[in-house]
Formats: sequence, C-alpha cells, structure tokens
Amino acid sequence: MFLQGKRALVTGSTSGIGLAIARGLAAEGAQLVINGFGDPDAIAALVSEVSATSGAPARFIEADLMRREGAEALMEAAGPVDILVNNAGMQHVAPVEDFPVEKWDAIIALNLSASFHTCRMAVPAMKAQGWGRIIFMGSAHSLTASPYKSAYVAAKHGLAGLAKTLALELAETGITANLISPGYVWTPLVENQIPDTMKARNMTEEQVIKNVLLERQPTKRFVQPAEVAALATFLCREEAGNITGANYNIDGGWVAQ
Ligand code: NAD
Repeated sequence: MFLQGKRALVTGSTSGIGLAIARGLAAEGAQLVINGFGDPDAIAALVSEVSATSGAPARFIEADLMRREGAEALMEAAGPVDILVNNAGMQHVAPVEDFPVEKWDAIIALNLSASFHTCRMAVPAMKAQGWGRIIFMGSAHSLTASPYKSAYVAAKHGLAGLAKTLALELAETGITANLISPGYVWTPLVENQIPDTMKARNMTEEQVIKNVLLERQPTKRFVQPAEVAALATFLCREEAGNITGANYNIDGGWVAQ
C-alpha cells in the first residue's frame, strides 16, 4: 500500500474511468475525495467501499465543475491534496455548423477550464510539501482528431498543453503533471454518444461500434477502465517522479497509425 497517508482527489469519480482510478488509488491506501454526480445511495456505498479498501475515511464532495465557482468550492472543501486527478468530462457529437453553442461552452468549461481551476488551487499545498501528482484525463483526441467532435478535441488538445506547461513550471518542486490518453473505453460517456453518432453518420448502432469506435483501435477491443487506473496508479509511485510532461496513450494502437 504505497499511497498510505496520501490524499487523492479524483474529479468525476462516480462513474467510468474516474471510478476505476478512485478504486485503484484506494487499493494502495490513498484517502479519497470522490466527486461527480449520481444516485446518492450508490455514492454512499462507493464512499464506504473505498474507505474500507484504503483504511482511510473517504469523502464525497458534490460540485458542478462546469462552473468556476463549483471548482473553487470543491477545492476549498477538499483542502490540501497530494494527488489530483482531473478526470471529469463530457462529450457531444455534431457537425461544426450545427454544434450547439452551449455544448461548446460546457465542454470547454468542464473538460478544460475546470482542470486549470483545480490545479491553480491544489498547487500551493503540493509545493509547500515538496510532493504532488497531477494527472489529466486526456484522450486519443488530445493527439489526433475525429470529425464532429470539435469541442472535445479542442479541449483535450488544450489539456495536453496545460499538462506540459505545468510540468515545466513545477519541474523543480517534486510535483509531476502528466496526461493519460485512452482510446475508446466502454463507459456511459461512450455509450451516450452512439445515438448522435448514428445521426451524424447515418449508421446503425452496430455500425457505429464496429466501423467508427473499434475501427480506430487496431486491437479491436475497448480499453478497460481498470487498465487506465493501473497507469494512473503507477504515475503516483516514487519511481515515477521523473515522469512529467508526458502524454501516455493507452488506446489499442490508435495513434500509432
Ligand atoms: P463517465 O460519463 O462514465 O464519467 C464522467 C464523470 O464525470 C462522472 O462521474 C460524472 O458524474 C462526472 N461529471 C459529469 N459532469 C460533471 C460536472 N459538471 N461536474 C463534476 N463532475 C461531472 O465518463 P468516462 O468515460 O469515465 O470519462 C471520464 C474521462 O475520461 C473524461 O474526461 C473523458 O473525456 C475521458 N475519456 C473517456 C474515454 C472513453 O472512451 N470513455 C476515452 C478517452 C478519454
């Protein structure tokens, strides 16, 4: 349990990848702050589960990270953290000329700006203690693009730039900043984009899964949330202290093409 005594905040950890990362960090003894939306009973059960796993009492802090005030309230309530995983995100699929302006604003706010706000508020305590791990949830779309995902691709490329910038700014402080860039992971975020993709591309659900999603991944398999969690946990090890400013794709070979 190499993370005993460490405090970790994972945004968007009530579902999907963030949930797997929270479980992975708890399994190494980290004390968790869970964030996101969801069924209150399921969230209470999750808090009990990760507390029991890690042996340290976890907390759930609800905050809407689409709003700057929400991100600030989360960081104030969380207090100092040693590990910050900026994971909360959303997607919308539409041709640029039809892309709803409010969806653009929401995706940039949640997928990009929220990470700036959490980082600016987490860094002072990390600097003071001379140790920190910042992980951004990128995407294969931080390295490459797909049609109809203008806001998401722009936000994820932005996160890649933010991670590199923080890596340089914080290089001598004991804090690392890295991006993890998964290909398609079967989570509600992917499931929910299937209907719009069917519409945008005039395809059936089966065609979207086979010809759009898995078509990009040479392994022809969805990435597993636990595989992403294993990489995130590795980046929190002492041995990963010289890995900073990196963008790790975990995408079944997608960006190798
Ligand atoms: P998900 O929909 O399963 O989980 C999203 C999480 O974010 C949930 O906990 C949700 O409650 C939370 N959330 C949503 N809106 C929020 C808000 N306004 N404020 C606070 N929390 C909010 O999605 P996921 O697939 O696990 O995605 C997690 C991250 O991984 C995202 O950044 C996504 O872009 C990225 N990602 C996902 C995939 C994929 O294929 N699923 C691939 C690459 C990157």
